[in-house]
Amino acid sequence: MTETGPAAPRAQNGAAPSAEPARARRRLAILGATGSIGRSTIDVVRSHGGAERYEVTALTAHSNAEALAEAARTLRAARAVVADEAAYPALKAALAGSGVEAAAGAAAAAEAAVGAEWVMAAVVGAAGLPSVLAAARSGADLALANKEALVCAGDLMLEAMAEGGGALLPVDSEHNAIFQCLEQDQTQAVERLILTASGGPFRDWPLERMAAARPEEALRHPNWSMGAKISIDSATMANKGLELIEAARLFRMGPERLEVVVHPQSVVHSLVGYADGSVLAQLGAPDMRTPIAYALGWPRRVASPAPRLDLAAIGRLDFEAPDERRFPALRLAREALSAGGAAPLVFNAANEVAVAAFLAGAVSFLQIAEIIERSLEASDLTAPSDLAAVFSADEAARAAAKGLIAA
Ligand code: NDP
Ligand code: MG
Repeated sequence: MTETGPAAPRAQNGAAPSAEPARARRRLAILGATGSIGRSTIDVVRSHGGAERYEVTALTAHSNAEALAEAARTLRAARAVVADEAAYPALKAALAGSGVEAAAGAAAAAEAAVGAEWVMAAVVGAAGLPSVLAAARSGADLALANKEALVCAGDLMLEAMAEGGGALLPVDSEHNAIFQCLEQDQTQAVERLILTASGGPFRDWPLERMAAARPEEALRHPNWSMGAKISIDSATMANKGLELIEAARLFRMGPERLEVVVHPQSVVHSLVGYADGSVLAQLGAPDMRTPIAYALGWPRRVASPAPRLDLAAIGRLDFEAPDERRFPALRLAREALSAGGAAPLVFNAANEVAVAAFLAGAVSFLQIAEIIERSLEASDLTAPSDLAAVFSADEAARAAAKGLIAA
Protein backbone atom coordinates (compact mmCIF):
# COMPACT_ATOMS: atom_id res chain seq x y z
CA MET A 1 0.00 0.00 0.00
CA THR A 2 1.42 3.37 -0.92
CA GLU A 3 1.35 6.49 1.17
CA THR A 4 1.94 9.52 -1.01
CA GLY A 5 1.84 13.28 -1.10
CA PRO A 6 2.96 16.01 1.25
CA ALA A 7 1.90 16.04 4.88
CA ALA A 8 -1.58 17.52 5.32
CA PRO A 9 -2.09 20.46 7.68
CA ARG A 10 -2.58 20.07 11.40
CA ALA A 11 -6.05 19.30 12.64
CA GLN A 12 -8.33 22.32 12.96
CA ASN A 13 -8.26 22.00 16.74
CA GLY A 14 -4.53 22.61 16.63
CA ALA A 15 -3.45 19.16 17.82
CA ALA A 16 -0.23 17.84 16.43
CA PRO A 17 -0.50 14.53 14.58
CA SER A 18 0.19 11.62 16.90
CA ALA A 19 3.40 9.95 15.88
CA GLU A 20 3.03 6.37 14.72
CA PRO A 21 5.55 4.26 16.65
CA ALA A 22 7.97 2.58 14.28
CA ARG A 23 6.77 -0.91 13.28
CA ALA A 24 4.14 -0.98 16.05
CA ARG A 25 0.61 -1.62 14.86
CA ARG A 26 -1.66 1.35 15.35
CA ARG A 27 -4.34 0.65 17.96
CA LEU A 28 -7.79 1.44 16.65
CA ALA A 29 -11.40 1.07 17.70
CA ILE A 30 -14.65 1.37 15.76
CA LEU A 31 -17.81 2.51 17.55
CA GLY A 32 -20.88 1.43 15.55
CA ALA A 33 -18.91 -1.15 13.58
CA THR A 34 -21.95 -2.90 12.09
CA GLY A 35 -23.47 0.19 10.44
CA SER A 36 -22.91 1.74 7.05
CA ILE A 37 -19.92 3.86 8.14
CA GLY A 38 -18.63 1.08 10.41
CA ARG A 39 -18.60 -1.42 7.55
CA SER A 40 -16.97 1.08 5.18
CA THR A 41 -14.32 1.73 7.83
CA ILE A 42 -13.61 -1.99 8.12
CA ASP A 43 -13.29 -2.13 4.35
CA VAL A 44 -10.75 0.72 4.34
CA VAL A 45 -8.81 -0.79 7.27
CA ARG A 46 -8.70 -4.18 5.54
CA SER A 47 -7.53 -2.70 2.27
CA HIS A 48 -4.82 -0.81 4.14
CA GLY A 49 -3.19 -3.80 5.78
CA GLY A 50 -5.91 -4.99 8.15
CA ALA A 51 -4.70 -6.82 11.24
CA GLU A 52 -1.09 -6.73 9.98
CA ARG A 53 -1.02 -2.96 10.29
CA TYR A 54 -3.69 -2.26 12.90
CA GLU A 55 -4.30 -3.68 16.34
CA VAL A 56 -8.08 -3.48 16.70
CA THR A 57 -8.76 -2.99 20.39
CA ALA A 58 -12.56 -2.84 20.25
CA LEU A 59 -15.58 -2.92 17.98
CA THR A 60 -19.05 -1.94 19.21
CA ALA A 61 -22.66 -2.21 18.04
CA HIS A 62 -26.09 -1.85 19.55
CA SER A 63 -27.50 -5.37 19.21
CA ASN A 64 -26.42 -6.94 15.91
CA ALA A 65 -24.29 -9.67 17.56
CA GLU A 66 -23.75 -11.83 14.47
CA ALA A 67 -22.43 -9.02 12.26
CA LEU A 68 -20.30 -7.67 15.11
CA ALA A 69 -18.77 -11.09 15.80
CA GLU A 70 -17.99 -11.59 12.14
CA ALA A 71 -16.28 -8.18 11.93
CA ALA A 72 -14.33 -8.91 15.13
CA ARG A 73 -13.09 -12.22 13.75
CA THR A 74 -12.10 -10.63 10.44
CA LEU A 75 -10.07 -7.85 12.08
CA ARG A 76 -8.87 -10.09 14.95
CA ALA A 77 -10.25 -7.56 17.42
CA ALA A 78 -9.41 -7.90 21.11
CA ARG A 79 -12.93 -7.06 22.25
CA ALA A 80 -16.47 -6.84 20.86
CA VAL A 81 -19.14 -4.92 22.78
CA VAL A 82 -22.91 -4.75 22.34
CA ALA A 83 -24.63 -1.86 24.11
CA ASP A 84 -27.79 -3.91 24.46
CA GLU A 85 -27.29 -6.45 27.26
CA ALA A 86 -29.97 -8.73 25.79
CA ALA A 87 -27.64 -9.36 22.83
CA TYR A 88 -24.80 -10.65 25.05
CA PRO A 89 -25.63 -14.40 24.88
CA ALA A 90 -25.77 -14.25 21.07
CA LEU A 91 -22.46 -12.35 20.93
CA LYS A 92 -20.77 -14.79 23.30
CA ALA A 93 -21.99 -17.75 21.25
CA ALA A 94 -20.95 -16.17 17.94
CA LEU A 95 -17.44 -15.49 19.30
CA ALA A 96 -16.90 -18.95 20.79
CA GLY A 97 -13.38 -20.17 20.08
CA SER A 98 -12.35 -16.91 18.38
CA GLY A 99 -10.23 -15.47 21.18
CA VAL A 100 -12.24 -12.24 21.00
CA GLU A 101 -13.56 -11.07 24.37
CA ALA A 102 -17.32 -10.39 24.47
CA ALA A 103 -18.84 -7.62 26.59
CA ALA A 104 -22.22 -5.90 26.90
CA GLY A 105 -23.99 -2.92 28.42
CA ALA A 106 -24.09 0.83 28.03
CA ALA A 107 -21.07 1.45 30.27
CA ALA A 108 -18.89 -1.11 28.45
CA ALA A 109 -19.93 0.36 25.07
CA ALA A 110 -19.21 3.90 26.25
CA GLU A 111 -15.69 3.06 27.44
CA ALA A 112 -14.86 0.61 24.66
CA ALA A 113 -12.58 2.90 22.67
CA VAL A 114 -10.45 4.05 25.59
CA GLY A 115 -6.86 2.91 25.00
CA ALA A 116 -7.04 3.12 21.21
CA GLU A 117 -4.92 5.64 19.29
CA TRP A 118 -7.48 6.17 16.51
CA VAL A 119 -11.22 5.88 16.99
CA MET A 120 -14.00 5.88 14.41
CA ALA A 121 -17.17 7.27 16.04
CA ALA A 122 -19.98 5.89 13.88
CA VAL A 123 -22.81 5.20 16.30
CA VAL A 124 -26.01 6.79 14.98
CA GLY A 125 -27.76 9.51 16.95
CA ALA A 126 -27.30 11.18 20.32
CA ALA A 127 -26.96 7.64 21.74
CA GLY A 128 -23.34 7.93 20.62
CA LEU A 129 -22.57 10.86 22.91
CA PRO A 130 -21.13 8.97 25.94
CA SER A 131 -18.77 6.89 23.80
CA VAL A 132 -17.73 9.88 21.67
CA LEU A 133 -16.96 11.94 24.79
CA ALA A 134 -14.98 9.11 26.38
CA ALA A 135 -12.97 8.65 23.18
CA ALA A 136 -12.38 12.42 22.93
CA ARG A 137 -11.12 12.58 26.51
CA SER A 138 -8.89 9.54 26.06
CA GLY A 139 -6.47 11.43 23.81
CA ALA A 140 -7.11 9.31 20.71
CA ASP A 141 -7.35 10.86 17.27
CA LEU A 142 -11.11 10.93 16.74
CA ALA A 143 -12.58 10.27 13.31
CA LEU A 144 -16.03 11.71 13.79
CA ALA A 145 -18.96 10.50 11.70
CA ASN A 146 -21.52 10.90 14.49
CA LYS A 147 -22.66 14.47 13.85
CA GLU A 148 -25.50 14.31 16.40
CA ALA A 149 -23.06 14.25 19.34
CA LEU A 150 -21.43 17.44 18.13
CA VAL A 151 -24.81 19.10 17.54
CA CYS A 152 -26.10 18.18 21.03
CA ALA A 153 -23.00 18.87 23.06
CA GLY A 154 -20.57 20.79 20.85
CA ASP A 155 -18.83 22.70 23.63
CA LEU A 156 -18.43 19.63 25.84
CA MET A 157 -17.04 17.66 22.93
CA LEU A 158 -14.52 20.31 21.94
CA GLU A 159 -13.48 20.65 25.59
CA ALA A 160 -13.07 16.87 25.82
CA MET A 161 -10.93 16.89 22.66
CA ALA A 162 -8.76 19.70 24.06
CA GLU A 163 -8.41 17.80 27.34
CA GLY A 164 -7.39 14.60 25.56
CA GLY A 165 -5.11 16.31 23.04
CA GLY A 166 -6.03 14.10 20.06
CA ALA A 167 -6.92 15.39 16.60
CA LEU A 168 -10.55 15.81 15.62
CA LEU A 169 -10.88 14.45 12.09
CA PRO A 170 -14.24 15.12 10.40
CA VAL A 171 -15.58 12.14 8.45
CA ASP A 172 -18.89 13.58 7.24
CA SER A 173 -18.07 14.08 3.55
CA GLU A 174 -18.79 17.83 3.53
CA HIS A 175 -16.73 18.54 6.63
CA ASN A 176 -13.98 16.24 5.49
CA ALA A 177 -13.91 18.19 2.20
CA ILE A 178 -13.69 21.52 4.06
CA PHE A 179 -10.98 20.10 6.32
CA GLN A 180 -9.02 19.16 3.19
CA CYS A 181 -9.52 22.63 1.62
CA LEU A 182 -8.63 24.70 4.68
CA GLU A 183 -5.19 26.22 4.51
CA GLN A 184 -4.35 26.14 8.18
CA ASP A 185 -2.12 29.21 8.16
CA GLN A 186 -4.77 31.19 6.28
CA THR A 187 -7.84 30.66 8.45
CA GLN A 188 -8.18 34.44 8.95
CA ALA A 189 -8.67 34.73 5.17
CA VAL A 190 -11.60 32.30 5.06
CA GLU A 191 -14.75 34.19 4.11
CA ARG A 192 -17.25 31.37 3.92
CA LEU A 193 -17.80 27.64 3.90
CA ILE A 194 -20.10 26.27 1.23
CA LEU A 195 -21.70 22.93 2.01
CA THR A 196 -23.07 20.97 -0.91
CA ALA A 197 -26.30 19.00 -0.59
CA SER A 198 -27.56 16.38 -3.00
CA GLY A 199 -31.16 17.49 -2.37
CA GLY A 200 -32.04 13.85 -1.61
CA PRO A 201 -34.65 11.71 -3.37
CA PHE A 202 -37.35 14.45 -3.27
CA ARG A 203 -35.21 17.29 -4.62
CA ASP A 204 -37.64 18.03 -7.45
CA TRP A 205 -40.86 16.68 -5.93
CA PRO A 206 -43.76 19.13 -5.43
CA LEU A 207 -45.02 19.51 -1.86
CA GLU A 208 -48.25 17.61 -2.58
CA ARG A 209 -46.25 14.55 -3.65
CA MET A 210 -43.89 14.88 -0.66
CA ALA A 211 -46.93 14.89 1.65
CA ALA A 212 -47.67 11.29 0.63
CA ALA A 213 -44.04 10.08 0.52
CA ARG A 214 -43.57 6.58 1.92
CA PRO A 215 -40.54 5.47 4.00
CA GLU A 216 -39.25 3.22 1.21
CA GLU A 217 -39.25 6.20 -1.18
CA ALA A 218 -37.51 8.44 1.35
CA LEU A 219 -34.89 5.72 1.99
CA ARG A 220 -33.95 5.53 -1.70
CA HIS A 221 -31.12 8.06 -1.85
CA PRO A 222 -30.01 8.83 -5.41
CA ASN A 223 -26.24 8.93 -4.73
CA TRP A 224 -25.26 7.60 -1.32
CA SER A 225 -25.79 4.25 0.38
CA MET A 226 -26.31 5.05 4.09
CA GLY A 227 -28.08 3.96 7.26
CA ALA A 228 -31.85 4.50 7.55
CA LYS A 229 -31.79 7.53 9.87
CA ILE A 230 -29.41 9.66 7.84
CA SER A 231 -31.19 8.63 4.62
CA ILE A 232 -34.46 10.09 5.95
CA ASP A 233 -32.51 13.14 7.15
CA SER A 234 -31.26 13.60 3.60
CA ALA A 235 -34.79 13.41 2.23
CA THR A 236 -36.00 16.16 4.63
CA MET A 237 -32.67 18.02 4.38
CA ALA A 238 -32.51 17.92 8.19
CA ASN A 239 -29.16 16.28 7.48
CA LYS A 240 -27.87 19.48 5.86
CA GLY A 241 -29.28 21.38 8.82
CA LEU A 242 -27.38 19.16 11.27
CA GLU A 243 -24.32 19.62 9.06
CA LEU A 244 -24.58 23.43 9.20
CA ILE A 245 -24.48 23.18 12.99
CA GLU A 246 -21.68 20.61 12.78
CA ALA A 247 -19.65 22.97 10.55
CA ALA A 248 -20.22 25.89 12.92
CA ARG A 249 -18.83 23.79 15.79
CA LEU A 250 -15.93 22.15 13.95
CA PHE A 251 -14.64 25.22 12.16
CA ARG A 252 -15.83 27.85 14.66
CA MET A 253 -17.76 29.84 12.05
CA GLY A 254 -20.86 31.97 12.58
CA PRO A 255 -24.05 31.05 10.70
CA GLU A 256 -23.64 34.09 8.41
CA ARG A 257 -20.53 32.48 6.92
CA LEU A 258 -22.09 29.10 6.23
CA GLU A 259 -23.85 28.49 2.92
CA VAL A 260 -25.66 25.55 1.39
CA VAL A 261 -25.85 24.86 -2.33
CA VAL A 262 -27.74 21.95 -3.86
CA HIS A 263 -25.54 19.86 -6.14
CA PRO A 264 -27.42 16.78 -7.33
CA GLN A 265 -24.40 14.78 -8.53
CA SER A 266 -22.65 14.73 -5.09
CA VAL A 267 -19.23 15.05 -6.70
CA VAL A 268 -18.14 18.38 -5.20
CA HIS A 269 -18.27 17.52 -1.51
CA SER A 270 -17.94 21.10 -0.19
CA LEU A 271 -15.98 24.30 -0.74
CA VAL A 272 -14.05 27.00 1.12
CA GLY A 273 -14.21 30.62 -0.07
CA TYR A 274 -11.22 32.90 0.63
CA ALA A 275 -10.79 36.69 0.85
CA ASP A 276 -9.13 36.89 -2.58
CA GLY A 277 -12.20 35.37 -4.24
CA SER A 278 -10.65 31.91 -4.62
CA VAL A 279 -12.91 28.99 -3.85
CA LEU A 280 -11.28 25.63 -3.11
CA ALA A 281 -13.30 22.44 -3.49
CA GLN A 282 -12.74 18.76 -2.84
CA LEU A 283 -14.16 16.34 -5.39
CA GLY A 284 -14.56 12.59 -5.39
CA ALA A 285 -16.97 9.78 -6.15
CA PRO A 286 -19.84 9.69 -3.63
CA ASP A 287 -18.31 6.95 -1.49
CA MET A 288 -17.61 7.38 2.22
CA ARG A 289 -14.48 5.23 1.96
CA THR A 290 -12.62 8.28 0.61
CA PRO A 291 -13.20 10.58 3.64
CA ILE A 292 -12.73 7.58 5.94
CA ALA A 293 -9.36 6.83 4.31
CA TYR A 294 -8.40 10.50 4.67
CA ALA A 295 -9.18 10.35 8.38
CA LEU A 296 -7.39 7.02 8.81
CA GLY A 297 -4.25 8.11 7.02
CA TRP A 298 -4.14 11.68 8.30
CA PRO A 299 -1.78 13.53 8.15
CA ARG A 300 -0.76 11.42 5.16
CA ARG A 301 -2.93 10.09 2.35
CA VAL A 302 -3.51 6.37 2.03
CA ALA A 303 -5.14 4.38 -0.77
CA SER A 304 -8.84 3.63 -0.49
CA PRO A 305 -10.93 1.05 -2.33
CA ALA A 306 -13.46 3.77 -3.35
CA PRO A 307 -14.16 4.14 -7.07
CA ARG A 308 -12.23 6.85 -8.92
CA LEU A 309 -13.94 9.93 -10.25
CA ASP A 310 -14.56 9.98 -14.02
CA LEU A 311 -15.60 13.54 -14.84
CA ALA A 312 -16.00 12.89 -18.56
CA ALA A 313 -18.45 10.07 -17.79
CA ILE A 314 -20.39 12.35 -15.41
CA GLY A 315 -20.42 15.08 -18.07
CA ARG A 316 -21.85 17.95 -16.06
CA LEU A 317 -22.07 19.31 -12.54
CA ASP A 318 -25.21 21.24 -11.57
CA PHE A 319 -25.83 23.67 -8.72
CA GLU A 320 -29.01 25.34 -7.45
CA ALA A 321 -30.24 27.20 -4.37
CA PRO A 322 -31.98 25.10 -1.70
CA ASP A 323 -35.76 25.52 -1.41
CA GLU A 324 -36.49 26.10 2.28
CA ARG A 325 -40.23 26.17 1.59
CA ARG A 326 -40.26 22.51 0.59
CA PHE A 327 -37.43 21.66 3.00
CA PRO A 328 -38.29 23.63 6.17
CA ALA A 329 -35.95 21.48 8.31
CA LEU A 330 -33.04 23.36 6.77
CA ARG A 331 -34.51 26.72 7.85
CA LEU A 332 -35.25 25.35 11.33
CA ALA A 333 -31.67 24.16 11.76
CA ARG A 334 -30.32 27.53 10.69
CA GLU A 335 -32.66 29.24 13.18
CA ALA A 336 -31.61 26.79 15.91
CA LEU A 337 -27.95 27.52 15.20
CA SER A 338 -28.57 31.28 15.44
CA ALA A 339 -30.68 30.90 18.60
CA GLY A 340 -27.96 28.80 20.28
CA GLY A 341 -28.48 27.45 23.81
CA ALA A 342 -30.37 24.15 23.75
CA ALA A 343 -32.00 24.86 20.36
CA PRO A 344 -29.63 22.64 18.31
CA LEU A 345 -30.05 19.85 20.87
CA VAL A 346 -33.86 20.14 20.72
CA PHE A 347 -33.74 20.22 16.91
CA ASN A 348 -31.75 16.98 16.95
CA ALA A 349 -33.80 15.17 19.60
CA ALA A 350 -37.14 16.05 17.99
CA ASN A 351 -35.78 15.03 14.61
CA GLU A 352 -34.61 11.63 15.91
CA VAL A 353 -38.04 10.97 17.44
CA ALA A 354 -39.90 12.17 14.33
CA VAL A 355 -37.74 10.11 11.96
CA ALA A 356 -38.33 6.95 14.04
CA ALA A 357 -42.07 7.69 14.00
CA PHE A 358 -42.04 8.22 10.22
CA LEU A 359 -40.17 4.93 9.68
CA ALA A 360 -42.75 3.22 11.92
CA GLY A 361 -45.59 4.68 9.86
CA ALA A 362 -46.88 6.83 12.74
CA VAL A 363 -46.40 10.26 11.07
CA SER A 364 -46.25 11.55 7.51
CA PHE A 365 -43.12 12.82 5.80
CA LEU A 366 -43.99 16.52 6.12
CA GLN A 367 -44.87 16.07 9.78
CA ILE A 368 -41.20 15.43 10.57
CA ALA A 369 -40.35 19.14 10.17
CA GLU A 370 -43.61 20.16 11.88
CA ILE A 371 -42.69 18.08 14.93
CA ILE A 372 -39.24 19.68 15.03
CA GLU A 373 -40.73 23.18 14.79
CA ARG A 374 -43.36 22.59 17.47
CA SER A 375 -40.86 20.88 19.78
CA LEU A 376 -38.58 23.92 19.49
CA GLU A 377 -41.53 26.18 20.37
CA ALA A 378 -42.49 24.01 23.36
CA SER A 379 -39.01 23.47 24.84
CA ASP A 380 -36.83 25.33 27.31
CA LEU A 381 -33.89 26.50 25.19
CA THR A 382 -31.58 27.46 28.07
CA ALA A 383 -28.06 26.26 27.34
CA PRO A 384 -27.25 23.08 29.29
CA SER A 385 -24.32 23.73 31.61
CA ASP A 386 -22.96 20.20 31.89
CA LEU A 387 -23.40 16.66 30.60
CA ALA A 388 -26.20 15.84 33.04
CA ALA A 389 -28.08 18.91 31.83
CA VAL A 390 -27.52 17.83 28.21
CA PHE A 391 -29.05 14.42 28.95
CA SER A 392 -32.04 15.87 30.78
CA ALA A 393 -32.67 18.49 28.06
CA ASP A 394 -32.41 15.73 25.46
CA GLU A 395 -34.90 13.60 27.39
CA ALA A 396 -37.32 16.51 27.81
CA ALA A 397 -37.16 17.35 24.10
CA ARG A 398 -37.82 13.72 23.18
CA ALA A 399 -40.79 13.62 25.55
CA ALA A 400 -42.16 16.83 23.99
CA ALA A 401 -41.82 15.41 20.47
CA LYS A 402 -43.44 12.10 21.49
CA GLY A 403 -46.27 14.04 23.12
CA LEU A 404 -46.89 15.88 19.84
CA ILE A 405 -46.99 12.60 17.94
CA ALA A 406 -49.37 10.96 20.41
CA ALA A 407 -51.69 14.00 20.44
P1 NDP B 1 -26.31 2.90 10.68
O1 NDP B 1 -27.70 2.96 11.13
O2 NDP B 1 -25.98 2.20 9.41
O3 NDP B 1 -25.39 2.25 11.83
C1 NDP B 1 -25.45 2.68 13.15
C2 NDP B 1 -24.44 1.93 13.99
O4 NDP B 1 -24.56 2.38 15.35
C3 NDP B 1 -24.67 0.41 14.05
O5 NDP B 1 -23.42 -0.21 14.18
C4 NDP B 1 -25.50 0.25 15.32
O6 NDP B 1 -25.46 -1.08 15.85
C5 NDP B 1 -24.77 1.23 16.20
N1 NDP B 1 -25.50 1.70 17.37
C6 NDP B 1 -26.76 2.23 17.43
N2 NDP B 1 -27.06 2.58 18.69
C7 NDP B 1 -25.98 2.24 19.45
C8 NDP B 1 -25.68 2.33 20.83
N3 NDP B 1 -26.55 2.82 21.71
N4 NDP B 1 -24.45 1.91 21.26
C9 NDP B 1 -23.55 1.39 20.38
N5 NDP B 1 -23.79 1.27 19.05
C10 NDP B 1 -24.99 1.69 18.61
O7 NDP B 1 -25.77 4.42 10.64
P2 NDP B 1 -24.73 5.09 9.64
O8 NDP B 1 -23.48 4.28 9.58
O9 NDP B 1 -25.41 5.49 8.40
O10 NDP B 1 -24.42 6.45 10.41
C11 NDP B 1 -23.61 6.50 11.58
C12 NDP B 1 -23.31 7.96 11.89
O11 NDP B 1 -22.53 8.50 10.84
C13 NDP B 1 -24.56 8.85 12.00
O12 NDP B 1 -24.36 9.79 12.99
C14 NDP B 1 -24.64 9.52 10.63
O13 NDP B 1 -25.25 10.79 10.69
C15 NDP B 1 -23.16 9.66 10.29
N6 NDP B 1 -22.86 9.72 8.87
C16 NDP B 1 -23.19 8.66 8.07
C17 NDP B 1 -22.95 8.69 6.70
C18 NDP B 1 -23.24 7.51 5.83
O14 NDP B 1 -22.86 7.52 4.65
N7 NDP B 1 -23.89 6.46 6.31
C19 NDP B 1 -22.35 9.90 6.07
C20 NDP B 1 -22.02 10.94 7.02
C21 NDP B 1 -22.28 10.83 8.36
P3 NDP B 1 -26.56 -2.23 15.41
O15 NDP B 1 -26.15 -2.64 14.02
O16 NDP B 1 -26.39 -3.29 16.42
O17 NDP B 1 -27.91 -1.56 15.47
MG1 MG C 1 -22.74 14.60 4.96
